[in-house]
Order: sequence, then C-alpha cells, then structure tokens
Amino acid sequence: MDVKTQSYVTEAKKEMASPASRTFLDFFLPVLSAVREIGMTSFPDPAAAVERARAIRRSSVDRLGELLETFERNAVKAGARVFWAENAHEANIYIRDLVNRHRIPYVTKGKSMITEELGLNEVLKKNQTPVYETDLGEFIIQLLEKPPFHIIGPAINIPTDEISRVFMEKAGMDSASTDPVVLGQAARNFLRDKFRHMRLGITGVNMAVAETGSILNVENEGNIRFNKSAPGIQVSVMSLEKIVPNLDDALHMTRMLCRNGTGQKLTSYVTLDTGPRKQGEKDGPEELHIIILDNGRSRIYDDIKTREVLQCIRCGACINVCPVFRQIGGYPYGWAYTGPIGKLLNPLLLGLDRTRDLYGACTLCKACKTVCPAGIDHPSMILYLRNKNLAADPVLQGEGSTFAERLMSKTAAFAATRPRTWNTAARLGSFLASKLGPCHPLVSAWTLKRTFPSLPPKTYRDLRKHP
Ligand code: SF4
Repeated sequence: MDVKTQSYVTEAKKEMASPASRTFLDFFLPVLSAVREIGMTSFPDPAAAVERARAIRRSSVDRLGELLETFERNAVKAGARVFWAENAHEANIYIRDLVNRHRIPYVTKGKSMITEELGLNEVLKKNQTPVYETDLGEFIIQLLEKPPFHIIGPAINIPTDEISRVFMEKAGMDSASTDPVVLGQAARNFLRDKFRHMRLGITGVNMAVAETGSILNVENEGNIRFNKSAPGIQVSVMSLEKIVPNLDDALHMTRMLCRNGTGQKLTSYVTLDTGPRKQGEKDGPEELHIIILDNGRSRIYDDIKTREVLQCIRCGACINVCPVFRQIGGYPYGWAYTGPIGKLLNPLLLGLDRTRDLYGACTLCKACKTVCPAGIDHPSMILYLRNKNLAADPVLQGEGSTFAERLMSKTAAFAATRPRTWNTAARLGSFLASKLGPCHPLVSAWTLKRTFPSLPPKTYRDLRKHP
C-alpha cells in the first residue's frame, strides 16, 4: 500500500468539504460508540473486565520475547512452519516464493491490516498472481481501488449506489441495485467460485496463544474460516505483538475485542486453530505457514515509552470517539492505520519526518485513552512524539524544529522568566488582537472553524491586583 501520509492536510480538507462524508461521519461514528457502550454493560463488572484486559496486554508485551519463543515452539510441535520476517520485504518474498513454488494460480485473503502494512497485494500483482479479498468490505475497496476507511469497516462509508456500479463493472452483477441483500448475493456469487478452487489462503491473526501455539481469528462473515480451512496451504501473518500467554487470557481479550469493536458479545465466527490438518481430520490445510512480522516493532519495543503502543488489539474503539476522525474520516491518515492508533503506529513505523501532520493534528482531549481496553495513553505518547520530532531524534527520524519554532520558544522562555516583559507583551498582545479582529490573516486560520473569544477587560494579573 502506498504511503500518502504527507497529503494529510489536502485530504482532510477534501473530506471536510464532502457532504457524503459529513453525513456518514456525523451519524455512524456516534452509533458505533453507542453500541460499544451498550456491549460493555453486558460484562457483570465492566470496570474489572477492562482492568483485567489492560493487565493482560501489559504483561503480554512485557514478556514479549519469552512468549513468542514459547508460541513458536508449540506451533512447530503442532506441525506449523514458523517464519520470522524482519521487515515487509522478507515477509512478501516468503509468500511470493511459496506461491511460485506451488504454482498457485491465485490467492484468496481474509481481512487483515497487517497485509495492508506489507503492501502484499502489490507484490503479488507484480508477480502476476491475482489476489481476491474475501471480506465484503475489503472486496469492495479492492474493486474501487480505495484504501481502508476504518479498521473495523474498511468500506463502511461507501454508498450503495457506488458499490452497485463497481459490482456491475467488475464483479459480474447483471443489473443495478442498492439493496444490500442483492449486493451481498452478488459478492457471494463472485467469490464462491474463487473459494471453490482456492489453493492458498492468507489471513491475519487476532491473537496468537503462546501456551498452545494456536491462532485465533474473529469475524462476522465466515470468509476467514473458509481461508483457514479449505485450501491446501494456509498463511497466517501476525505482527509480533499479537501474542497472549494462554487460552484463558485469549478468551477474555476476545470478549473485549468484540464488544469494543462492534458491540457484540462475540462475533459470528471465532476460529481457533492449532497446526495444520491432522490425520483423520476433514478440514484444515496440509501446510500451515505462520509469519511473525517485526517491521520496526523491536525498535518500538526498545523505547520504554513507545512500547505501550504494542498493547493495541485493533478494536477501533478509539477511532469512533476521536473528534479529529469524526471530522475527517480515515483517508487522510494515508496508510494502513487510522484514527488515534494511526497517529501513533504510522509515525512509529514510518518515521516522524513524513507523518508530522498525523501526530500534530490532535486536540489531546483524551477520549481515546478513556475507551482503550488495552490501556494505551495516546495523548502522552503524542506529546512524546512531538518532542522527539523537535529534538530531531535519529531513531524515530525526527526532523528537528524550524527556525520560526526555535525563535518562538526562545522568545516565550525569555518573556516567561521576566515578569515585566511578560506583562508588557500580554498587554500588547491583547491590544493588537482587539484591533486586528477575527478576520485578520494572522488569526484567520484559527478562526476558520472557531468563534473568536471576546477579550476580557482585565488580565488575570490585573484582577489579582484590583479584584
Ligand atoms: S489503541 Fe486501544 S482503542 Fe484504539 S484500536 Fe488499539 S486497543 Fe482499540
């Protein structure tokens, strides 16, 4: 997937001016947040459930190395082949070579953000291997050649008439329809044929269970189960933080993931598999390949402050409550991850220099931190990234401050340590602001979407002196 994080401002302006996006964002995101809240009340003690989930994620990340080794041992014992990929290139080449070795005519995929991160579809396309996305949302955006809009619903914002048009154009639908049932049937007709002859299926991983070497996936459509059970060769791609210590923890995190993602107690399908098909079993692949991807996560792990981001379970709850996402939607983030988690993961994986607008455009309102079942403190990490960028951090590829930023901070530090200078500057500032007014170019970018506050007749210091 192409990296377009530097078009953030342009794309955000486009989305804010689009009436279709506005209607969707104003209506659906509050609905998604509301169903999450209702879902969470189905825990006997929601606060205790969240606390337990946060503790599981913290300890899983703290014990990352040990748990991954245990997982590998148990997965291999169960018959899986485990490949450690240091970066996207190694993972893509492994899959491409597997496809070529077995002369696979096409591959099918279940929904996975990790393969978006890898850019796997583009690599297989160059290899002349067609890729069919089998999740309905992913299938729609693949046909439309659009990036995912939301972690949970990649095509959740696409109007049905646009889907109808592209299905007629590229998926063999006979006549136009905006009926969701008809559209669903058209996708099913198209994909069933691919499923029937599938030889290699690729899926992501929601959780990898160290104590058993098992892979767990949640979904509502059954396509992941198809991709895991029907083809002769199955590839599961996981980022290394997807590990949990044992089945008990995996099941608690599954309950948490489903409620936070879609408000469901459990999704329609929860698939837990250990190794490939055994003798006498009817379903399952003959070969199971598990790719454990690093792609910069060891570097994230090494920094005690950024390590916390690896606790994420990709539930999407933070996205639905984010006031910035509610204005601009998912496209401006320009890469695999969107919303508050995208403001952290994209910069940490791609570098601070080309993602500045992502962690810059945050109000630090803490809504994301409040809902996060994994215990991630997004606002404090965003401040950390901003500081690292200004300090030109070499590990995170910080740019350093501009001349104007240095001048401003030096001037502010100078004035703040000299009360007289500060007072004079404050008076001068309020005088100028009252003379310039809200439409002056110096302040108009700020007042574009905000009401210019009326200036107080007295400063705080004046009030202290003469209350
Ligand atoms: S950061 Fe937290 S709320 Fe956001 S997707 Fe990850 S786990 Fe869910």
